Amino acid sequence: MNAHTKETQAAISPQNALELLKEGNKRFVEKDSADRDLLQQVAQTASGQYPFATILSCIDSRVSAELIFDQGVGDIFSARVAGNIVNEDILGSMEFACKLAGTKIIVVLGHTACGAVKGACDDAKMGNLTELLSKIKPAVDAVPEPADASQRNSGNIGFVNTVAEKNVQMTIDNIRTQSPVLKEMEDNGEILIVGGMYDISNGKVSYM
Ligand SMILES: [Zn+2]
Repeated sequence: MNAHTKETQAAISPQNALELLKEGNKRFVEKDSADRDLLQQVAQTASGQYPFATILSCIDSRVSAELIFDQGVGDIFSARVAGNIVNEDILGSMEFACKLAGTKIIVVLGHTACGAVKGACDDAKMGNLTELLSKIKPAVDAVPEPADASQRNSGNIGFVNTVAEKNVQMTIDNIRTQSPVLKEMEDNGEILIVGGMYDISNGKVSYM
C-alpha cells in the first residue's frame, strides 16, 4: 500500500474518508492489516504529506489511532490529549490539518474505561490535571442518570462510559462553536465531523 499523494487525497470525499477509517478498523479487528512497507512510505512522504483524516483521541496507551484504524505513514493527523477535549491549540492544529493540509474528516474518538473521564467523574485534583479535567466536567454534569450521588463516580463503569460518549458529543459542539473555520468547512461539505467510541475490550470503533 502506497502513501497518499496530492491526487489520491483530492479524490477522497468526506464520506469516502469515513469509509476508509471503517475499513481500516475492520482490518485491525480481523487481524487483516494492509500490506505496507512503512520505510517505503517514509520515502514516499519525504517531499510532502497528504493525509485524509484528522483523529482527536485520548493519550491512552491502548488507543493509538494509526494502529486501530490500520493506517500508515502520512495517512492521518493524530491529535491526542487526555480525555480528547479541545482547546485553542488543538483547534488550531485541526484547522491546519483540514484547511491547509486537506484532510476530509475529523473524528473525535472517545473510548471505554477512560481514565481522564474517571478522574472527572471523581472530581480528582492534581497539578495541571485539575484544569484539564475541568474541560470534561461539563459532560459529567450533562449526564442526568443515575441521580444517586453515590453512583456517579468511577466505580460505576456504565456511568463512566456514558459520560465519555457525552464528552465526545460536547467536544464536537465545542469544535463547531469555537472554530468558525471548521464550522464553515463542515457547512460547505468540505469535511465531516463525526464522533466515535473505541471499545478497549474488543478493538472496535462505533460511530455516533
Ligand atoms: Zn482516555
